[in-house]
Amino acid sequence: MYKLNGVENSPILEIRGLKKHFPLRRSISSIFGKKHFAQAVNDVSFNLYKGETYGLVGESGCGKSTTGRTILRLTEPTEGEAIFREKDIFKIKSGNELKEIRKKMQMVFQDPYNSLNPRKRVGQILEESLIIHSIGDKKHRAQIVLEILEKVGLSVDHYYRYPHEFSGGQRQRIGLARALVVNPNIIIFDEPVSALDVSIQSQIINLLNKIQMEENLTYLFISHDMSVIKYMSDRVGVMYLGKLVEEGTNEDIFHNPVHPYTQSLLSAVPVPSPHFKKERIILKGDLPSPINPPSGCSFHTRCPYAKDICQEAVPEYKWVSKGHRAACHLAN
Ligand code: SF4
Repeated sequence: MYKLNGVENSPILEIRGLKKHFPLRRSISSIFGKKHFAQAVNDVSFNLYKGETYGLVGESGCGKSTTGRTILRLTEPTEGEAIFREKDIFKIKSGNELKEIRKKMQMVFQDPYNSLNPRKRVGQILEESLIIHSIGDKKHRAQIVLEILEKVGLSVDHYYRYPHEFSGGQRQRIGLARALVVNPNIIIFDEPVSALDVSIQSQIINLLNKIQMEENLTYLFISHDMSVIKYMSDRVGVMYLGKLVEEGTNEDIFHNPVHPYTQSLLSAVPVPSPHFKKERIILKGDLPSPINPPSGCSFHTRCPYAKDICQEAVPEYKWVSKGHRAACHLAN
């Protein structure tokens, strides 16, 4: 149970022990002498609660996008469970059942342009989603599409235009419209505003918040940008090298971060005041390879506080407070 705005809430989606290991091409594997895998996601567990935004943050290559894609089975999981409406999504074999799940759980990508058919008008593209899910007759579908266009801040005029006629911000509105048109419960956003100018970013973020309130939607919001995550999220999961290293409420993560990796991410967020100087925690080296992750705590090669034990033992989660956990030997 989790309290959102003072109301007790039970999970709408439960992710348990999610692993996604990509097999390497044989030529690369042979360098290591045996079959090897890139461990993109390694034993990740978290819950999504109805009506909340769960922010998943970490630097590029940490496995956050793979986590989102795997939940929707756009890429198949290696191991784990994803329980939605008492059903494990990863065990579904029937195409129709999976289609039904995808109707309820939609995904919006960084640049939806790549997934918009350039030869079709926006109205047709949106209607296509309704046809796939057998929603309404032609007249009803047109009505739904027009309502959704209006909801995301586009107009009837845009119904007849082609994707290349839109700006980046408008394309993101189309991506959102395409997700909304089938009336989902959950939307997974993968870096939805990273490619946009700052002024457009705030417009889209405000739109997402408004629509979430109106439709009582649950968001999984994936981003590398701590400022955006802070603004958007009720709860936050911080990922490093395929693992969830810290999880807590927005308040826990941004005002009492306990994992050194979370602290380093926060130290890099600019403060909008010339009178306040923040001490930046500079990490040593680059993100290690997920093919051969470091032993013990996978962050030990870059952690400013690493001790001998950190190289030897994988840290268990420690509960810092209710709902706030961190995988660090030094957390308390
Ligand atoms: Fe740093 Fe050790 Fe904590 Fe890992 S377990 S984050 S290496 S102090």
